[in-house]
Amino acid sequence: MFKAKAYSAASAISPLALTTIPRRDGTENDVQIEILFCGICHSDLHSVRNEWSEFMPTQYPIVPGHEIVGRVTQVGSAVTKFKPGDLAAVGCMVDSDGTCPECRAGFENFCPNMVLTFNSPDKHLGAVTYGGYSESIVVDQRFVLRVPSNLKPAGTAPLLCAGITTYSPMRRWGVTNGKKVGVVGLGGLGHMAVKLAHAFGAHVVVFTTSPNKKEDAIRLGADEVVISRNADEMQKHAESFDFILDAVSADHDINAYISLLHRDGNLTIVGAPPKPLGVSAFALIMRRRSFSGSNIGGIAETQEMLDFCGKHNITADVEVIPIQKVNEAYERLLKSDVKYRFSIDMASLKSE
Ligand code: NAP
Ligand code: ZN
Repeated sequence: MFKAKAYSAASAISPLALTTIPRRDGTENDVQIEILFCGICHSDLHSVRNEWSEFMPTQYPIVPGHEIVGRVTQVGSAVTKFKPGDLAAVGCMVDSDGTCPECRAGFENFCPNMVLTFNSPDKHLGAVTYGGYSESIVVDQRFVLRVPSNLKPAGTAPLLCAGITTYSPMRRWGVTNGKKVGVVGLGGLGHMAVKLAHAFGAHVVVFTTSPNKKEDAIRLGADEVVISRNADEMQKHAESFDFILDAVSADHDINAYISLLHRDGNLTIVGAPPKPLGVSAFALIMRRRSFSGSNIGGIAETQEMLDFCGKHNITADVEVIPIQKVNEAYERLLKSDVKYRFSIDMASLKSE
């Protein structure tokens, strides 16, 4: 075991502050990584403030962070995929049982014994896993991803959650050339969805509550932008979409979007507002529409997404911050005031 600097929160109302955490000495299958950048996902904020207490209560202290890019510093004797000096990435999961039907089908993200990067029982050290707001992490090689060499690390980190969470459902629901695709909420996930859907060749319409994001949406790859609070603008798109991805972090009217799907269209929600949403049966049954959810993606698909991003030169638009600004960043995230993902430069932790 060795000690690493990290930022943690002591309770749902405490700010994140400097601490030291234990990391395990690497086993033969482990990769030890010096973290260069870690994105700030809204899930970090939901968890730090225990907003998901009903579904996954937070154990304190919590060290969040699951959009990790770093440099390999050590590898175990059985590690074949990585060597010291390589760039490597870690997303939302660090382990799974590897034997259940979900794992065998490549869906580690649905494994009943999946271990999240933070706030999951840690079978090596006891207590819970600690995430990427830290100078280092030790992860089984099965859960470490390769980073395409042309992608810059700061903007690559958010691909590990925001990227795969939007890539996976769009692949699942056949977002391709010529499909009309909506993206609801232009935040960290939403802006990745726009870039990816555009790269898949879809006709992309962004729904935003923030009129000041209109120009950016077009620059990111949207063909049209709708200010969702404007009923007339919404009405123009009635019954016209093949697929809509909802990436909103707070309570909102989901039926307003379901009614924009044509027959057999699908709306997939990836946003995880803490309170249940009221879904209208009529909105679904009248056009045989479907409403579904999606949770990150499996490891093979995450690598596929990274390789796709490498090929198409896609990274997140990031505002790089030192870790000392993390609490301020959370307040700005709540106000939808980030273009479009905070990425923490972990070198800032060295000076503490
Ligand atoms: P984010 O950067 O904060 O983006 C959320 C966006 O939602 C905002 O930028 C805003 O977009 C819109 N929004 C916020 N409050 C709203 C409100 N009251 N009404 C309508 N729209 C509102 O968050 P994120 O990191 O992209 O995460 C989004 C959600 O996905 C979170 O709940 C997160 O926990 C969840 N998530 C799920 C998964 C998964 O696997 N399913 C993975 C990662 C994250 P506009 O300004 O454009 O309106
Ligand atoms: Zn996330």
